[in-house]
Amino acid sequence: MASLAPSPKNYIPPDSHFLLDRIEENIRKSFNELIVSLDETSGSHQHHPMKVGIRNSYHPLKNPEAGLSPLGTETGVMNQESVRGQMKNFSEETTRYWNPIVERLPQEQLRTLQLRKFKKIFEWAYERSKFHRRLYQEAGLEPGDIKTFEDIRRVPKVEKSMMRSIQRKDPFPYGEALCVPLEEVVEFRQTSGTTGQPVYQPDTWQDWEWWSESWAYILLAQGFRRTDRFFVPFGYNVFVAFWAAHYAAEKLGCEVVPGGVLDTAARILKIQELQATALMATPSYILTMADTAKNRLKINPARDLTVRRIVCAGEPGASIPSTRKRMEEAWGAKVFDHVGATEIGAWGYECQEQSGIHINEALFLVEVEDLITGEPITGPGQKGKMVITALDRLAQPCIRFDSKDLVEWADSPCSCGRTFRLFKGGVSGRTDDITKVKGVLLSPTAIEEVVHSFKELGDEYEVVVSKRGDTDEIALVVEIPPGLEGKKQELSARLKDRLRLQTNLSYLIVFHPLHSLPRAEGKARRFKDTRDSKEGNGREG
Ligand SMILES: [Zn+2]
Repeated sequence: MASLAPSPKNYIPPDSHFLLDRIEENIRKSFNELIVSLDETSGSHQHHPMKVGIRNSYHPLKNPEAGLSPLGTETGVMNQESVRGQMKNFSEETTRYWNPIVERLPQEQLRTLQLRKFKKIFEWAYERSKFHRRLYQEAGLEPGDIKTFEDIRRVPKVEKSMMRSIQRKDPFPYGEALCVPLEEVVEFRQTSGTTGQPVYQPDTWQDWEWWSESWAYILLAQGFRRTDRFFVPFGYNVFVAFWAAHYAAEKLGCEVVPGGVLDTAARILKIQELQATALMATPSYILTMADTAKNRLKINPARDLTVRRIVCAGEPGASIPSTRKRMEEAWGAKVFDHVGATEIGAWGYECQEQSGIHINEALFLVEVEDLITGEPITGPGQKGKMVITALDRLAQPCIRFDSKDLVEWADSPCSCGRTFRLFKGGVSGRTDDITKVKGVLLSPTAIEEVVHSFKELGDEYEVVVSKRGDTDEIALVVEIPPGLEGKKQELSARLKDRLRLQTNLSYLIVFHPLHSLPRAEGKARRFKDTRDSKEGNGREG
């Protein structure tokens, strides 16, 4: 028995307070993290020893006694008494948070935590990655130069194309951004590569723990609990997709059913057979599954299946009201959004209030920039581009990554009690999807909102931007069920009106028969710009 490595599954809680145990452990861990991050006298890398950990050793200094050491009272961010107080006051209230300490840390203290973590990850990359050192030296920056958020803004951004150009070289295949010895890498994943060569992503065991930790925040916030039986209908492979979510669900104590190599119909039958209560997939696949259930298997998911909660990723659909409504009606389930990417991590999530996407500000630093001037956007009312830093990712750091995600700050804090700031409506598109058509900025999510609000139309659609002579033309291909052919003209007119209202552009509407457009198990590729080829993006994972 002694040789058996501890894991969430072979950790048997002494009583039924399983979740409380996990959260308590988590509080201790976060307290340690605060102490280490805030204790600048503790030496440069105490918080980053490169050791192959055991499951649940996400934080190397995790040790309940150390967590409550007097050191904590010197940090100024948390004091020993308040942690003890919070740990004593476990109740229904605190089980709403995966980490009741950091998720409710006042903004000012979160900023302090982020700044200190940023300094450390910057120094970490500077000392270990030739790629990062070169980049920073060229900008005239050294680790000691980062003292304020203003200084952070001077740190050069990293684009996906830069990562492509340094990879496939020694240490093979990751190249010069690798910050750990190759033998410390325990996981390989890659981006989907639809817009160019895939970017490889190495993770240490600690990074892998960090992945599942970040997903644990998401799942708990969305109401998933250990009583849930999670069906994961994705092809487990080199894409990061739902891997971390799988482990996080285990961490919460959920039962996980890996629906890997099954086809769509077999997955639905398995969900039915096992009475699964929870599901995770891309919005387009959630809709495809419902469609297959109804049309091929004569199963009505809302009536005949037991799935009551769904977490989405990979596409913005769950934050698009009409798409969310479609999914919720088809499954009779609550649908929640989450955002993340291979090179970044799982950085944001909806809570049960569903008032936007919370940024996990304990693990990530998010900046929003004006699309044209690059000036910081710090308040609501204006969309901008997200630049993001994963504060704790070690093997291949993600520091000021140009995510190209289009976001907007929410007007007010969330009523759930989390102090993590919100993005209104999630990620509303990608800066490289926001093409200019006829001089107007076009957002594909606005088109999706319109298409999915038409009950008569199928789930799939396609947008094709092309050039006729000197003029841009947008064709919207939609699916129409049999029997509605006679309504084409009227539908087309209503669609055009709504689209003009939403996007200020006129469209050519093309009708295809239901089920004739391609269905993806992963992310749907619905936007085609045939005018010229475009550079790759950051949201492939
Ligand atoms: Zn909230």
